[in-house]
Amino acid sequence: MQGNPHRAEVRLLGTAAAPGVARATAYLLQQGRTLVVRRRVDDPERELARLEVALAATRAEIAQLRADVARKLNESEAAIFDAHLLVLEDVALIDEVTKEVRRSGYNIEHCFETVAQRYIDIFAKMEDDFLRERAADIRDVTGRVLDQLLGAAPAEVGPVAGRQVVVALDLTPTETAGLHEAGVAAFVTEEGGRTSHSAIMARSLDIPAVVGVKGLMAAVGAGDTLLVDGEAGLVIVNPSAETLATYLDKEQALRTRRDRVMGEIALPDTTADGAAFGLLANIGGPEEMEDALRCHARGVGLYRTENLYLRLDAWPTEAEQFAEYAEAVRLAQGRPVTFRTLDIGGDKRLGDLSDEANPFMGYRAVRMCLERPEIFRPQLRAIVRAATFGPVHVMFPMISGIEELRKAKEIFRQVEAELAQEGIRSAAPIRLGAMIEIPSAALVAAELARECDFFSVGTNDLVQYLLAVDRGNRRVATLYDPCHPAVVRTLAGIFRAAAAAGIPAAVCGELGGDPLWAPLLLGLGAHELSMTPAALPEVRFLLRHARRDEMRALAEQALASASAAATRGLLQGFATAQQKSR
Ligand code: PEP
Ligand code: MG
Repeated sequence: MQGNPHRAEVRLLGTAAAPGVARATAYLLQQGRTLVVRRRVDDPERELARLEVALAATRAEIAQLRADVARKLNESEAAIFDAHLLVLEDVALIDEVTKEVRRSGYNIEHCFETVAQRYIDIFAKMEDDFLRERAADIRDVTGRVLDQLLGAAPAEVGPVAGRQVVVALDLTPTETAGLHEAGVAAFVTEEGGRTSHSAIMARSLDIPAVVGVKGLMAAVGAGDTLLVDGEAGLVIVNPSAETLATYLDKEQALRTRRDRVMGEIALPDTTADGAAFGLLANIGGPEEMEDALRCHARGVGLYRTENLYLRLDAWPTEAEQFAEYAEAVRLAQGRPVTFRTLDIGGDKRLGDLSDEANPFMGYRAVRMCLERPEIFRPQLRAIVRAATFGPVHVMFPMISGIEELRKAKEIFRQVEAELAQEGIRSAAPIRLGAMIEIPSAALVAAELARECDFFSVGTNDLVQYLLAVDRGNRRVATLYDPCHPAVVRTLAGIFRAAAAAGIPAAVCGELGGDPLWAPLLLGLGAHELSMTPAALPEVRFLLRHARRDEMRALAEQALASASAAATRGLLQGFATAQQKSR
């Protein structure tokens, strides 16, 4: 494809939302809907009855879409539409519309659009990125209701001719799902941020994307050539011949590397000098097992059982849990599945958990389970029953010291004995592990290691508690720095304790799937890394091409570094040297 010689190259910088480079003509997505006219009505109650019908139809439409997305993508993507259903249940919104219809005497389309726009404007102006990006969700749902009221067909993307770059002011999740189906090359939007649902979807759909590109709509015309660099967050309109040549090289290099990485996807987890390691998957339900197996995970290192609770928005029964866990174990085909017992609380709120000033330090995970046997026991029973179908491990989250570990183990053993009496026995002995994610647990790791079968380090929490930085607070986000020497030294202590007791240690926090961190973690003494399935091929490739002695040397240097910047420099230096040597 040639650059347009008649128009000068324009470079626009936005937020990198999903990696990859794409080059294609622009497809300008028209987001106009049928015009809503304002007219007086005689019977406001009739208008409100029409709204009820439209809401019901929209609910059905979204439920259908949710089911389609769950089938074609996965449950996590489909969950986005649960948030959409909640917009329809928003009492404040519906109340306001009702008042507007009765007060103004205008038609429901006009009143609904007015109130919806007010909501969209409020969210669009919010300071918090996450809340601001919810504006697209509200626009999506309320647009559907309007379509129902107007009798228009629901919004769809297309027809996109072949592989084009979709250019839009903003994209709703519905539209993003449509982009995937249409096979577009990339998408760029003027609004939105990294945490907007369309960006999250783009990452898991593997579509390069740049969002939040100021001036995009004014700069791009239909048929312009666009070069999208999803890593740099760069959109180049009508790239010059030189730019194209540079990017051709970059694209080619990326493709070659991707091919090499995927070519080794099924090779053993062994370093270049023959040391074995194990890569496992983090999943939230049986529907994600397919991804895990496709990426050749050796098993599941973290099964987030709270997902079922959050999905049902209720405490699930033993039967409900058993059905899900058993399916996961069956699908794992003999690979071990590590169930983490319920880790609810903190930022994952459910049911009658009381409001707390510091929820991350509050009534969470094993603390709650030990106090609530009516919740803990059915879960443990469901896990043991699922273990009749294949190997299962169990780990307890938020262990802070030996008493909690002992209590949790004791309850587990009681449940196991009770089931044995009922004639139910696991296929293989169930190994019990402690998650190490609280500094106190790291400090008594030697004692904990003597009383459990494995460790799994939850670095997401460990970092927040070690550094006293709330992992969800954007104001202190820059302080949440795993490269802090305290983190590196704490990790080394945990792995040393595991080695002394002869038990394996895994890392299941986000650091485990971070290509920069994986060599350091192995060098420090981790045996296994568990990560989101999509991260697995790259990490496997990196580790297979690194030598264990080099990783150990990296760990030695990192342990001696005095600042986070120095540690980061080491990790980057290691990655660059590795790249050159391959
Ligand atoms: C962690 O803390 O690293 C972890 C894996 O668990 P979560 O992110 O669910 O707290
Ligand atoms: Mg955790």
